[in-house]
Amino acid sequence: MKRHFLQVAILFACAVCAFAQTKPAADLIIHNAKIWTVDRARPEAEAVAILGDRIVAVGSNPEIEAWRGPNTRMQDAAGKRLVPGFNDSHVHFTSGGQQLDNVQLNDATSPQEFVRRVADRAKKTAKDEWMLGGDWDETKWTPAQLPTKELIDSITLQTPVALDRYDGHMILANSLALKLAGITAKTPDPDGGVIVHDAQGNPTGALKDAAADLVYKVIPDPTHDQRRHSIERALEHAASVGVTSVQHMNPDYADIAIYSGLLDEGKLTTRIYAAPLISQVDDQVKIGIGHAFGGSYLRIGALKSYADGSLGSATAYFFDPFNDQPNNRGLLSDAMHPVSLMRDRMMKADAAGLQLCTHAIGDAGISTILDIYAEIDKAHGARDRRWRIEHAQHMATKDFDRFAQLHVIASVQPYHAIDDGRWAEGRIGHDRSSRTYAFRTFLNHGVRLALGTDWNVAPLNPMLTLYAATTRATLDGKNPNGWFPEQKLTVQEAIEAYTLGSAYAEFQENVKGSISPDKLADMVLLSDDVLTIDPVKIRDVKVLKTWVGGKLVYSAK
Ligand SMILES: [Zn+2]
Repeated sequence: MKRHFLQVAILFACAVCAFAQTKPAADLIIHNAKIWTVDRARPEAEAVAILGDRIVAVGSNPEIEAWRGPNTRMQDAAGKRLVPGFNDSHVHFTSGGQQLDNVQLNDATSPQEFVRRVADRAKKTAKDEWMLGGDWDETKWTPAQLPTKELIDSITLQTPVALDRYDGHMILANSLALKLAGITAKTPDPDGGVIVHDAQGNPTGALKDAAADLVYKVIPDPTHDQRRHSIERALEHAASVGVTSVQHMNPDYADIAIYSGLLDEGKLTTRIYAAPLISQVDDQVKIGIGHAFGGSYLRIGALKSYADGSLGSATAYFFDPFNDQPNNRGLLSDAMHPVSLMRDRMMKADAAGLQLCTHAIGDAGISTILDIYAEIDKAHGARDRRWRIEHAQHMATKDFDRFAQLHVIASVQPYHAIDDGRWAEGRIGHDRSSRTYAFRTFLNHGVRLALGTDWNVAPLNPMLTLYAATTRATLDGKNPNGWFPEQKLTVQEAIEAYTLGSAYAEFQENVKGSISPDKLADMVLLSDDVLTIDPVKIRDVKVLKTWVGGKLVYSAK
């Protein structure tokens, strides 16, 4: 009995002295870095210590040296800039990965070049296999005319074609695809969609929004292997550009299954928050999970909805007609016909504790969603819900305050501003353009921003987003000092919105989004100091290394 007591006492004493004299050594120390932590308690530092998948200390080189043990890996950052890993709050990850292998049409600057590339791909495509993707952009052509099926029919006789406009709100189908979809001159426009016709009343092949679904319905789903291949490509690409977390908007369930499989195999190198379409609300309600359910690599619990279309396809829903199309003020999406259908689904989702992420672009589309959010707030009472409006592009003056009052997060994509800024004023005029991609006005109203790209609609590379947010220099070079320059963000603001802001938008700001003790060790080492170089040069900055949970997932050659 006595001996046992003594043993316990000795053990206890040793545990105390061990604790006092040593702490666990870090697995990894990154030192000699210029760290921008996005942690207001300590914005700048030189070194960081990582144990397991977490940051354990951030400080000066000597402070962090104290965490060094015999097995600690040392990474000398050679004075380069280290920032938290980027969290893209709005991506279409599988489409992005798929796009890396698809025909590339976005930079085809004439119909001739467009046709040449389609012909080239058709030769390499097996008979009856669909040709998809492309991301064409007719605004880069002179004149800017929508492509028609006649351009490509003769070179794609045995290949059904459904080529996406880069904004994802229009496709060009060839005659074979129209035939397979059963679309003729007599087919009526579906709710929320437009079948474009020529002067003779025949479909031109251009199908807007819900009209594209008529074709999508007949395209065979990718096989499991094809889907997995796309996701693996996307993961690889994300790591190479410093994106450590993504929020996947409207994934198929099959995508989530592949994420889950990759996670089991230890191959998931990007953290995923997946938000399936709200049409599937009953599934998540039945399971009984709430927002942001899951682990650090894979979570669900949000639902994505569409209120309207896009500005480029003239389907974003506005209070007043487009300046260049006096009889058109855009469309509510098919899921908003009637609006009560959307309201009922959102009420149900909210009652179950699920998060809402709603695509709304035109001022009337955004306003209609804020109306629904306000109704839910009234019906169910106040709660920390983190409602989001995806894109939030063209704001009515009255709605900035409502946005703030309802604590809605603006999930925005700055690259769209420098892209659409080329032609948006022609479509919606100067006044509406002044409240377009109004990032500064949002901040002034106390609205939180989460940054992203909408990849595959825009490039995933965060340097292009930082460049866009800080310069607002349109892609055509016509606004070198910025398109509505008063809406520029500082690089510090843009980085914060792209890391901590995006983490907040997925209920993870206590877990990631800054280089702080106890947070996940998701970090990116950059070739140049984005905080001090001329913002114009940010677009050329390269990622040197990317760590996710302290694991090196990318290293530049
Ligand atoms: Zn999107």
